[in-house]
Amino acid sequence: MIARSFLIAAALAAALPATADVNVYSYRQPDLIKPLMDAFTEESGIKVNVAFLNKGLVERLQAEGSRSPADLIFTVDISRLSAVVNAGLTQPVESTALEANIPAQYRDPGNQWFGLTTRARIVYASKDRVADGEVTTYEDLADPKWNGRICVRSGTNAYNVALTSAVIHHHGEEGAKSWLERVKANLARKPQGNDRAQVKAIWAGECDISLGNTYYMGAMLGNEEQKPWADSVRIVFPKFENGGTHVNVSGMALTKAAPNKEEAIKLMEFLASPKAQEIYAADNFEYPIAPGTNSDPLVAGWGSFEADDVNLMTLAGNRPTALRLTEEVDFDG
Ligand code: FE
Repeated sequence: MIARSFLIAAALAAALPATADVNVYSYRQPDLIKPLMDAFTEESGIKVNVAFLNKGLVERLQAEGSRSPADLIFTVDISRLSAVVNAGLTQPVESTALEANIPAQYRDPGNQWFGLTTRARIVYASKDRVADGEVTTYEDLADPKWNGRICVRSGTNAYNVALTSAVIHHHGEEGAKSWLERVKANLARKPQGNDRAQVKAIWAGECDISLGNTYYMGAMLGNEEQKPWADSVRIVFPKFENGGTHVNVSGMALTKAAPNKEEAIKLMEFLASPKAQEIYAADNFEYPIAPGTNSDPLVAGWGSFEADDVNLMTLAGNRPTALRLTEEVDFDG
């Protein structure tokens, strides 16, 4: 009996295709991605294991080398995506589905990384103390009329470095340095805290405008303590004088060592699909990027904007200069 059922089991196992799990290293919060992973498993029968990391993703992949269990990485910010690519830890993916659903400016020209959602870096403006039209460009932030009225987090934070990288693109190194110096001169206090802490400072009357990412508005509105902060401001989408609104991405890449490559690419294609992008974006109040997709109604209600057309790879390339300039002007000092 035992021998017979063993044989049947062995025959069944041979007949079924072995479906491997997909292993993900993620800088994104587990709550954010779990619903989508579950939907993928339901549709494909492929299980997804997510390891959430706070930091050290590049170092971990390097240490694990060719024995790494990770197939995919999820992260935000072009600088983190390009750091993994530049360390030689990814491999290209040729996929017509990814090409169709991810606009060219939001994926690596060599197919090493793919964006899934965007976020804009915008101005939070006091409803009481800032008039409509008082701030419309990033260049405006350097105007002396904002003296003592701006709050911002550290200039070396990845979000601000990416914005400074965009300033370099539009105004050159000297122009960016002067912009940083003049914005610094307008600060109400030394850079400190995160994006939401700046909105809290506006609510408390310490400053009138701040820089922050769009999705924090959604996060604050959903938090009892922070809702009054959110209610004290409105979102303004600044533009560059000769460009659009600064955006950054969340994205994914296939690791060089991916043990379950075929299944991992299926997950990538699933995540890039318009439906999955809309769910992913809505979960974190971000913007989906596939042609024809829509933002969550709350997010859409903040208004529309034209994304700056600077290539994200240009921003990543300007990062070392942006960091150096930020230190040269002692932005946080
Ligand atoms: Fe963030």
